Amino acid sequence: MFPALLPTYNRTDVAFVRGEGSYLFAEDGKRYLDFGAGIAVNAFGHANARLVGALTKQAQTLWHTSNLYRVPGQESLSRKLVDNTFADTVFFTNSGTEAIELAIKMARRHHFANGNPERFHIVSFEGAFHGRTYAAINAGGNEKYLEGFGPRMPGFDQVALGDLEAVKKVIGPQTAAIIIEPLQGESGVKPAGPDFLRNLRKLCDDNGLLLIFDEIQTGLGRTGKFFAYEDLRIAPDIMTVAKALGGGFPVGAVLATAEAAKGMTVGTHGTTYGGNPLAMAVGNEAIDMILEPGFLDHVNKIANYLHQQLGALTAAHPGVFESVRGQGLMIGLKMKTDAPAFIAAARANGLVVLPAGDNVVRLLPPLTLSEAEAREGLELLNKTASQVEAQKAAAQ
Ligand SMILES: *Cc1c(COP(=O)(O)O)cnc(C)c1O
Repeated sequence: MFPALLPTYNRTDVAFVRGEGSYLFAEDGKRYLDFGAGIAVNAFGHANARLVGALTKQAQTLWHTSNLYRVPGQESLSRKLVDNTFADTVFFTNSGTEAIELAIKMARRHHFANGNPERFHIVSFEGAFHGRTYAAINAGGNEKYLEGFGPRMPGFDQVALGDLEAVKKVIGPQTAAIIIEPLQGESGVKPAGPDFLRNLRKLCDDNGLLLIFDEIQTGLGRTGKFFAYEDLRIAPDIMTVAKALGGGFPVGAVLATAEAAKGMTVGTHGTTYGGNPLAMAVGNEAIDMILEPGFLDHVNKIANYLHQQLGALTAAHPGVFESVRGQGLMIGLKMKTDAPAFIAAARANGLVVLPAGDNVVRLLPPLTLSEAEAREGLELLNKTASQVEAQKAAAQ
């Protein structure tokens, strides 16, 4: 019989039924330390009192109206995002991939408004992940995600990450924009590198292209800055945001300069649910928490501690780990042994970690992780590595 639940996921046989801070509890009562935070979503841990309070208060007042009317929560949240980033304007979506759709539409429409409708090509990079809607899989370019879904959408050119000459070669009179994750998540925590990103900015300026940063995973404190682009001393023209913005409540956003957004006039885009009062109540509270003095200092302190200790951990298990990479609390452990097997063993030990491409174990703990919890996670990683080593020795 065909499963009642569409079988597009190969799900792990565990059901979490309750969360508290950095911990998850399964149906059988077993407790797990959560170094996955959904997938970089639960940035404030589980059942965060402030987010629960904001959502509950809104739920008792008004759930939904429509974008036909003013939504005060959208006005305050867009103001906070504009005041604290490069952006002049914000549009709210329900998910990351919807933010990507709008970013692509906006970039194409910018050139249309400039009288250049032929400029609609988007340059993206190998290993990119931008979501699962039709334009997003075409931008991502992953054959596995494209196969069987009809013809490729026209107007996407993909080149190798870090290959500036290849980018220059592919840019032409048809090019509208370049889209890139400052630090690729799904492909295995792969940095684009500051020099490469700054060179892309220059290429865009020289050729009248828009630079789109997909900060759906890297944004909102994950790398230790409010947004990862701040470290580069350059800014994109358009930026997509989601994941941590709702701390688990579905919400995304597109941030843009006025110039980039100039084509998005009345009637050119819309959404039923995007930016509804529930999402905005949570988003406003989440942004307030991230921007509170000391929040990002805490992220950086815990991240420095983890990176330092993970360096020691990988050195202590050279047969298991190859290297540590990433930035802030977006960390990849490049494995020498099988990453999925390590993840299963860690889970059996009570630690949730995530897979990523390139045989990488990904660590994306809540940004509110305490030092004691970081230590506990390191101990569980160490225990798991020792078990994997012992199994490897026994098999030889
Ligand atoms: C998760 C993610 C997306 C897609 O977001 P959804 O909310 O799953 O649609 C897009 N880009 C990046 C970099 C992501 O990490």
